[in-house]
Amino acid sequence: MRLKNKVALITGGGNGIGRETALLFAREGAKIGLVDNRDVDGKATVKMISELGQEAIFIQADVSQSIDCQAMVSAAEKEFGKLDILFNNAGIMHANDGDALETEEAIWDHTMNINVKSVFFGCKYGIPALRRAGGGSIINTASFVALMGAATAQIAYTASKGAVLAMSRELAVVHARENIRVNALCPGPLQTELLMNFLNTEAKKQRRLVHVPMGRFGQAREVAQAALFLASDESSYMTGTQFLVDGGITAAYVTPE
Ligand code: NAD
Repeated sequence: MRLKNKVALITGGGNGIGRETALLFAREGAKIGLVDNRDVDGKATVKMISELGQEAIFIQADVSQSIDCQAMVSAAEKEFGKLDILFNNAGIMHANDGDALETEEAIWDHTMNINVKSVFFGCKYGIPALRRAGGGSIINTASFVALMGAATAQIAYTASKGAVLAMSRELAVVHARENIRVNALCPGPLQTELLMNFLNTEAKKQRRLVHVPMGRFGQAREVAQAALFLASDESSYMTGTQFLVDGGITAAYVTPE
């Protein structure tokens, strides 16, 4: 087992990447603090983990709120005695996020609060817990759009993921001597609720797929495998990276027919 005796806190664990990662980490021996603001979804993931015969607790939290982030770290530490892995993964892509001209300030603020402040709060309260455990691994979910302009405009989302990537690098440098590694996970376009709700017509889906050399959307479980590597000691000499799992989208100039 690759995460035996480890304790992981996973935000956005009620769906998509967070759920698949929680199930995979649990199968690899980790105990899971499963965070989501939607309790039905979060509890459903915890039930799936219990059915695997592994340990998990559901912690309801809105990760844009400082007090909730403080509480989620405390809850995991209290339940399992320590924290080794922090996966700041929860995020949103708002349906009314568009180009700079049409996007409302409220959408910008809402997106930044959930996608960026959450990572700041997760680290603010999570890093002391990782220190108490003697070190650990932080994984922050950014996106390939932190590196490239998106074909379908989503200005707030793109800016938010750029901030997550930049923040991850600085965190990695500042905490490297404390045995705390920080890496940004940068998925390409995935077939999860988040993106499929945004690309809500076949034309929009095809517009995005045109750029993916593999010619398909990724699956959440394919990103979970990368999160497992970054969480485990197998990546012990990796920190401050932008770890791409993107079907080749960032490598492409022109995609094959
Ligand atoms: P998803 O919508 O399938 O799951 C996200 C989960 O986060 C949901 O369970 C949701 O309830 C939870 N969540 C949302 N706001 C929250 C809040 N304020 N507090 C707590 N939980 C909250 O999305 P996903 O595709 O699995 O995305 C996970 C992460 O991956 C996000 O940060 C997203 O930006 C990023 N990402 C996704 C893609 C993609 O194509 N799907 C690509 C690159 C990056």
